Amino acid sequence: MLEPEKMYMSYNNIHKLCQTVAQQILAKGERPDVIIAITGGGMIPARIIRSFLKFKGEKNIPIQAIGLSLYEDLGLDDKVETIGKEVIRTQWLDFGALDKHFDSLIGKKVLIVDEVDDTRTTLHYAVTELKKEVDEQRIKLNRLNEETIFSIFVLHNKDKPKKAELPASIMGTGRYLAAETVPDKWLCYPWEATDIDEHTRLSIEQGNN
Ligand code: 5GP
Repeated sequence: MLEPEKMYMSYNNIHKLCQTVAQQILAKGERPDVIIAITGGGMIPARIIRSFLKFKGEKNIPIQAIGLSLYEDLGLDDKVETIGKEVIRTQWLDFGALDKHFDSLIGKKVLIVDEVDDTRTTLHYAVTELKKEVDEQRIKLNRLNEETIFSIFVLHNKDKPKKAELPASIMGTGRYLAAETVPDKWLCYPWEATDIDEHTRLSIEQGNN
């Protein structure tokens, strides 16, 4: 039988992947103080995992959204090959809300969420820029002894050569959490489906429900 070109993932499947990873996070005692969703693919997984990370009687973990696009997605001609420059920010942290309700990201556990780690360019950019942001604040506020701990959660990591590396503080410490490692195929997520019944049917057929 031919291998399918595309992999379909149902909402059910994604819900369960979020639950599994939340359990891993809680088992390590690393419940995040803040979740940063990379829009738009990270938003639904971020929202789902938040419920599984919630403790009874405790406040919901705040979710902040950052928007990142690859140049190639935008159809720009002058794509620069340097890592970091391939990505542009379309949305960034709401520092007003962070300061008001939350102090800052200094000394916090931060969980970065996206749906898929493909070439790793987007995650690399997100981590690099967020770390830079926090380090600048630590210097400014003279809080150098407070460490921010970044973790990453993706639903799927594509098994392929990556174009960028993530820091050892994440990769070497069990803080890179991919619910599943999958072959290098196009993944179809339910929130992109035009016919959700057909999408779910295909997901079930492929055992992704
Ligand atoms: P990167 O190459 O930077 O790891 O991934 C960039 C973005 O491309 C991802 O956040 C995701 O939005 C999109 N992407 C990459 N591969 C897939 C895929 O197989 N399916 C979908 N729906 N989006 C993908």
